[in-house]
Amino acid sequence: MAVIIKLDCGRCRTYLELEAGDTVLELNQKGTVGKLIFHCPVCNERRERPVEGLHLSALIAAGVGYFTPRPLICEGDVDQFVFQLDRRTDSEIWEELEQ
Ligand SMILES: [Zn+2]
Repeated sequence: MAVIIKLDCGRCRTYLELEAGDTVLELNQKGTVGKLIFHCPVCNERRERPVEGLHLSALIAAGVGYFTPRPLICEGDVDQFVFQLDRRTDSEIWEELEQ
């Protein structure tokens, strides 16, 4: 049985009835809070709704797919990478890439 998720767009205020497969959850790193991502057919735009707690569990139980975004790379990570590169010879780098 397909689960229907009822919500309003939030932008155009259209009341939508979406199937679980028409939505996806983006969770934080701990999986405790997230955003329900869907496409509004009226606005023709990607929309998001914050979700947490029981609503989050209920959506996952209803079959809504979810993902956790990879952490962003910050400037410090790049500096660290460049520093590591500078300390290696070309042959060492190739050796690592070939593994
Ligand atoms: Zn809309």
